[in-house]
Amino acid sequence: MRIAVIGGGISGLGTAFVMGRRIPGAEIDVFEKNRTPGGTIASYRNDGFLMETGPNGFLSGKPTTLKIVDMLEQQETLLPANAKAEKRMIVKRGHLVTLPDTPLKFFTSSILSFGGKLRIMKEPFVHKKVGSEDETIADFGQRRLGEQAVTWMLDPMVSGVFAGNVDKLSLASCFPRIHELEMQYGSLIMAMLKLRSKKASPSGRLTSFENGMGQLIEMLALSGAFHLHAGSEVLEIRKEADGFHLDHGCGAYDAVVLAVPAYSLAEMTVPGLKDVREDLASVPYPPMAIVPFAVKKGVVDGFGFLIPSVEKSGILGALYSSGIFPNRGTDKYDLVTVMLGGDRHYEVRDMDQAMLVNAASEELAGFLKVERRELENIGLFKWRRAIPQYYTGHYRIVERMEAAAASVPGLFVTGNAFYGIGINDCTLAAFNTAERVQEFLTKEKE
Ligand SMILES: Cc1cc2nc3c(=O)[nH]c(=O)nc-3n(C[C@H](O)[C@H](O)[C@H](O)COP(=O)(O)OP(=O)(O)OC[C@H]3O[C@@H](n4cnc5c(N)ncnc54)[C@H](O)[C@@H]3O)c2cc1C
Repeated sequence: MRIAVIGGGISGLGTAFVMGRRIPGAEIDVFEKNRTPGGTIASYRNDGFLMETGPNGFLSGKPTTLKIVDMLEQQETLLPANAKAEKRMIVKRGHLVTLPDTPLKFFTSSILSFGGKLRIMKEPFVHKKVGSEDETIADFGQRRLGEQAVTWMLDPMVSGVFAGNVDKLSLASCFPRIHELEMQYGSLIMAMLKLRSKKASPSGRLTSFENGMGQLIEMLALSGAFHLHAGSEVLEIRKEADGFHLDHGCGAYDAVVLAVPAYSLAEMTVPGLKDVREDLASVPYPPMAIVPFAVKKGVVDGFGFLIPSVEKSGILGALYSSGIFPNRGTDKYDLVTVMLGGDRHYEVRDMDQAMLVNAASEELAGFLKVERRELENIGLFKWRRAIPQYYTGHYRIVERMEAAAASVPGLFVTGNAFYGIGINDCTLAAFNTAERVQEFLTKEKE
């Protein structure tokens, strides 16, 4: 049985790896456009610092990424975040304010006014949503928690996860668990209290690898579970009597898994997907830039900060990367990573290196209250199209794509445009896709 996987990001590599381990006798080829696999995931070193081009880690509360690490027998490479780096901040009226991490601290913190806190306390008495209309995160937040909670809590959180805009993103598509909790318990506060009493850990701890997130990609690529064809862009797939054929040659395949970004899929010629090309092309992918700085030890402390959009800053926030994972910095310097771009800052796509570094250092110096010369820029990475945005109505795009793919037996679609943008979402989808492919091939043999 021969299976082709198109796209060598975590979605494609994860699916290929699970299929390689679970489908006996499967011969799996992964085709990746770039010279190196990993998609948005890669780690690089410079002068003793270890930096990331994309994700910094994944949460240990969901099992699928950890399960892949177990299957690789590489548990010793895991690196949990430093427990001392819990302090998270937002910017409020130009100053860093620590986010409360206990209910008591919430009442004494300056993050919301007295009225704003009172409004949150009313949440258990707010009726649950009626009707099935897709709701933005901002509308959901206004309804359940009040305007201040949206401005100072939800907006920066959404910016930190999606680099997205609360006024456009769909709550049910972006945070399906929160949507489910409202539907099941009628209140988020009541749900939290009930789940806490069951000792359920909703998220877990941020986790990475000794050598950065790129190590996960290396371990998958070297696992022997599949054959990787790097530098191999696939633009056309045809279905013939003996199976699927790619524009690369390589013979016939019994099944094909597409794990490329939605905009790439829109440009490919794939049986069955012609009618959903417009849908796929409509998924927005704003740009992002990641600008790391070396900062003398003692200046920063904690996890980092995010900036609510009302603050009108040119940056989204900064991660204190070596506070979170100490081996990312050196003995004398911390690594601080500034993020720019996202759905409110498309101008980042046209900014050159000097402009990005300038904007990042100016804003960072202001928030840290240091001189700009105290921040040494040590790298830069720009994504012209970074994270797919699930606007309201996104679920219809997913439904139409699924129906189109299902019309072609042996064709499967996965990736962060459809099943969640977190690494844990991509690895969960990898297990699900591998299972669907296995079922299909088993039926074919019968
Ligand atoms: C800056 C940034 C920070 C992030 N931080 C976090 C974080 O801290 N935690 C977290 O959980 N998630 C984070 N994410 C999200 C997460 O990294 C991504 O959602 C995930 O890595 C996407 O994986 P993917 O394989 O679905 O897509 P991609 O990584 O986009 O991979 C798709 C691959 O397909 C290839 N390809 C495209 N077209 C073709 C073609 N025609 N033929 C062959 N190959 C093709 C591409 O080159 C690419 O390698 C972050 C993302 C970004 C950009």
